[in-house]
Amino acid sequence: MSEPALRIAVAGARGRMGRALIDEIVTAPDLRLAAAGVRPGDPEAGMPVEGVPGLSYTDAPEALFERADVVVDFTLPAASRRHLELAAAQRTAIVIGTTGWQADDEARIAESARHAPVLVAANFSLGVNLLIHLAARAARALGEEFAVEILDLHHGMKRDAPSGTALALGRALAAARGEDFETLARFARTGETGPRESREIGFGVLRGGDVAGEHTVFFLGTGERLELAHRAHDRRIFARGALSAARWLARNRPPGRYAMADVLGLRDG
Ligand code: NAD
Repeated sequence: MSEPALRIAVAGARGRMGRALIDEIVTAPDLRLAAAGVRPGDPEAGMPVEGVPGLSYTDAPEALFERADVVVDFTLPAASRRHLELAAAQRTAIVIGTTGWQADDEARIAESARHAPVLVAANFSLGVNLLIHLAARAARALGEEFAVEILDLHHGMKRDAPSGTALALGRALAAARGEDFETLARFARTGETGPRESREIGFGVLRGGDVAGEHTVFFLGTGERLELAHRAHDRRIFARGALSAARWLARNRPPGRYAMADVLGLRDG
């Protein structure tokens, strides 16, 4: 007998990522859209979800956690904080793609992960997760002779900068070199900057058009440079990756904090 479909609730269902997720869920035979959440007071609340008979958008976040095996959330940090609390209270697995977190959100994520399986990732694409892995290896191999700089290019509607992926890359590079990211990150250069500090990790941010997301890590040496780049052409890759993560979490994972590296088997052994 085939397994019952996995019940997925989408938070931020009318957003760019929410719509991409719903498109993927309704065509996946092993998944069922159990709830579609919108921002409280959103005029879409109560309206039918196109292509999903019998389902209406809800602006009650509790409903997502009552009806689903896994909640998938691409919204805003304020909403995702609330969703983390509800995941813990209901012991419902949650996959979060929201970016723009504050430093103290790490503690909130860890607290929620004591009660429910939680996977937060700044990027769900296989390519970017491999990029993070390869960039860390390159940083270790190239050593301190090579300056490390990160460039992120995204569509003009993006609300946070640098991107969560650029920050995740920076953290992975600092960790690979055994250094403290917060001390070394250099988010802006303007005016009389003086020469580059040898250990710093610089960020460049470009915004415009409909670019789904591009990241390049530069390793700048003397007489040579290495560039590792990833280009996302379509945000469906993030939706598919998030749903792979949801399937993985639903396999009886105990409460805990998980990462895409776990789902993709990219942990350094
Ligand atoms: P978007 O603005 O198109 O969508 C966000 C949606 O969340 C909006 O429809 C908004 O109404 C809704 N929302 C806001 N508050 C809410 C609440 N309290 N409850 C329910 N819904 C609420 O943005 P987007 O491009 O879909 O991106 C959303 C987030 O996902 C951003 O933080 C973005 O950086 C991130 N993102 C992550 C990845 C990844 O792979 N991790 C990929 C793309 C985007």
